[in-house]
Amino acid sequence: MANVQLIGIKKHFGGVKAVDGIDLEIKDGEFLALLGPSGSGKTTLMRLVAGLEEPTGGRIVIDGADVNDLAPRERGIAMVFQSYALYPHKTVFGNISFPLSVEKMPKAEMQKKAEWAAGLLGIGHLLDRMPSQISGGERQRVAIARALVRKPKVLLMDEPLSNLDAKVRHTAREELKLFQREINVTTIYVTHDQAEAMGLGDRIAVMHDGTIRQIGTPEAIYHDPANTFVAGFVGIPPMNFLEREGVVIGFRPEALLPAEAVPAEESMRLRFIVERVEDLGSHRLVYGTIGGTKVIANLFFRTPIAEGEERDFAVSNRDLRRFDLRTGERVRP
Ligand code: ATP
Repeated sequence: MANVQLIGIKKHFGGVKAVDGIDLEIKDGEFLALLGPSGSGKTTLMRLVAGLEEPTGGRIVIDGADVNDLAPRERGIAMVFQSYALYPHKTVFGNISFPLSVEKMPKAEMQKKAEWAAGLLGIGHLLDRMPSQISGGERQRVAIARALVRKPKVLLMDEPLSNLDAKVRHTAREELKLFQREINVTTIYVTHDQAEAMGLGDRIAVMHDGTIRQIGTPEAIYHDPANTFVAGFVGIPPMNFLEREGVVIGFRPEALLPAEAVPAEESMRLRFIVERVEDLGSHRLVYGTIGGTKVIANLFFRTPIAEGEERDFAVSNRDLRRFDLRTGERVRP
């Protein structure tokens, strides 16, 4: 367990500012999800923390000690990547205990630690199998167990679930969160999947163009976005935006409701031209325009609504967010 501080950290590759001045503190035992589009600098930031890249500027401090000059092995960090290569000719036990055998740890102690890590991930019964004899989800847990076996201070994970199919991913996500809580290891988790970030992160840092555009709890990121980038990146479908009287007004698709469902005195009324209705079973996505701007409503109740119809919708005032027209930054009352 450790606290991690990034102070003005930068990594430029020639003209490319992959990481461009990031200040960030990750608390002891915290699970921080690093969310951002492709190319936003997530992997580079992780590699900087791990010591696999040398920063162009800034400091990395782990538990109060500057680690800029420490080699990756000396930082007390473990990493799990998307392509978690296991050794095909070693058993699950051999794979998990590999980092310990490198340290020439006595056999009995190694056995104990490998069993601890395997138990934590629920793969204690697979220790004698070969990687080819276990499922993709199990292989992924072997990779995590291998990362944990040295009891790292900080665990870095870069899209570790992206090789799994959708169903396994869901359970793997749940398990990941459970074991992380149990061992309470400080974790930085890179993903471009917002459901993963929302579901796993104690806090989410949203990255864009090498900078952090917002850091906060999943709730804050979703309901209280700091700018139009975060508001438009997080949420499926994303926040709707309309230009009104020199500001950008944003509202979530689920806040755009048939007018009769919203008290008139505390809402903004909008004329919605319905173009297409997509029935997804539990809810319907209604696509159309308001004053010529494309918007989407997400309806969770079964009021009749027809393609081609034009009708009054409304958004409750408390669901409206205002942003600066020019900068996209949030304007607070
Ligand atoms: P993805 O989700 O696609 O993995 P990412 O957010 O992890 O993206 P990075 O891999 O950190 O993004 O890359 C950030 C930027 O830095 C990109 O523009 C990338 O092309 C550039 N970059 C990364 N590594 C290098 C390198 N070794 N040399 C030059 N440019 C690089």
